[in-house]
Amino acid sequence: SVSTGAVPPGDRIDEVLARAFERASAHREGKVADYIPILQNADPEAFGLCIADVDGGLHELGDTRAPFSIQSISKAFVYALLCDRIGHGRALDVVGVNNTGLPFNSVVAIELNDGHPMNPMVNAGAIAATALMPGETADAQFAAILTGLSRFAGRELTVDEDVYRCEADTNQRNRAIAQLLASYGRITGDPLRAVDVYTRQCSVRVDARDLAVMGATLADGGVNPLTGERVVSAEVSRDTLAALAASGLYERSGEWLFEIGLPGKSGVSGGLVTVAPGKVGVGAYAPPLDSAGNSVRGQIATANVSRALGLNIFASE
Ligand code: GLU
Repeated sequence: SVSTGAVPPGDRIDEVLARAFERASAHREGKVADYIPILQNADPEAFGLCIADVDGGLHELGDTRAPFSIQSISKAFVYALLCDRIGHGRALDVVGVNNTGLPFNSVVAIELNDGHPMNPMVNAGAIAATALMPGETADAQFAAILTGLSRFAGRELTVDEDVYRCEADTNQRNRAIAQLLASYGRITGDPLRAVDVYTRQCSVRVDARDLAVMGATLADGGVNPLTGERVVSAEVSRDTLAALAASGLYERSGEWLFEIGLPGKSGVSGGLVTVAPGKVGVGAYAPPLDSAGNSVRGQIATANVSRALGLNIFASE
């Protein structure tokens, strides 16, 4: 553990968690995602909040064991696995870290940037990253990803086959994105295979507690605080958090950093992971989303936690 004694005391975390949960529970705005049909079935009332600290402490409230598909949050962790494999310079070159200012599945963003995927948190960059994962077949590539995600979570994760099938039937836009990247030579190998592996990675089942532990692993410099296993290097954790700070919350990434001051990543199924380096990971699950695709209750609860525990990385005191 890289803990410097900066982890807030457990009873203080419990107190902050309870207040954040209560405040966020009062909010009923937002809309459950429906562009992937099966996601409409999510319970709009489900709400779980978990804080995992880098010393291995876990604090949970609400539906922290309710499973959901990880969706875009997988992008953060697959990017970390890729960086561990190809290094800082090459990751910068082939995936990039600049914001597009456009929706996560924009085709226009690719066209405007000479076919460059721009950053790992939009679909173009995520599919380009997945395409570079080791393995000769889709099965082998996905096995490497599932093993890596499981090591971040500290338990064996599985795929929600219904979500996978539903999304595989409706992911024409992602196939178009991959084909477009291939036309610019930004994906080598079969672009549709890359989309298939990406679709599987988005269908991996997690809960809010998993997200907190995965976040705490990045907070802990790449060491899972529950299992003690090193998953990625400290440099890779640092680089991943920088990429999240720049573009983890879709087009609201700037606002999020301004208000909360922490790197985070959201996904359209309602998950949100937030990282306070050297301290904690926060995992939230609440399906109703704002217009950019971020969990409404997740953002409110995390903002409350960040303020109450003084986690903003830009604050000098
Ligand atoms: N699998 C989803 C997609 O590619 C993930 C979207 C998201 O969570 O932002 O459309």
